[in-house]
Amino acid sequence: MTKQEKLEYLWNAIRKAYPNRRLVFNDGSPDSQVMIIGEAPGVNEEKEGLPFVGRAGKLLNATLELLGWQRSDFYISNILKYRPRDAAGGTLTPTPEEIEKFRPSLEKEIEVVKPKLIVILGRIAMTGLGIEGTMAERRGSVHERNNRKILIAYHPAAVLRNINLEPIFREDLGKMAELLNA
Ligand code: URA
Repeated sequence: MTKQEKLEYLWNAIRKAYPNRRLVFNDGSPDSQVMIIGEAPGVNEEKEGLPFVGRAGKLLNATLELLGWQRSDFYISNILKYRPRDAAGGTLTPTPEEIEKFRPSLEKEIEVVKPKLIVILGRIAMTGLGIEGTMAERRGSVHERNNRKILIAYHPAAVLRNINLEPIFREDLGKMAELLNA
């Protein structure tokens, strides 16, 4: 089976588990060396069926381009494959239970893509990979798991809320090149 076929298999299992949700899976190539993992789709992602296409995604794309990359160089995904929402349709932060539910499929997704480097955006995605702590403590740090490097960076939505974080976000993502060449 190709990576794409294996991913489809995984997506079908998730479709079966959440038949009433609008699901958002991956963007980019499963052959990429770098997998970027966010929290959960938002309203725009749900509409377009792709991760990181709203304001946070635009900031992510712009930062990657400033660093000499293109979005298409990456495999982009989220922990949750649906938008957590309240009864009125508002977007919620994923609960610890939701994160736990999606952890096994995220681990499988990582095993299919086999990235050399995983970039985690924000605290929710960090806890989804079992890394504890605050973003202030962990941002810019590199972890090693199953022969794979994990780099932690702020979530671009956090940067949109506090523009002072922008140089830090850029600096942290700037570590990708050296980590890939190490
Ligand atoms: N925030 C995320 O974490 N993921 C998206 O896909 C969009 C916004």
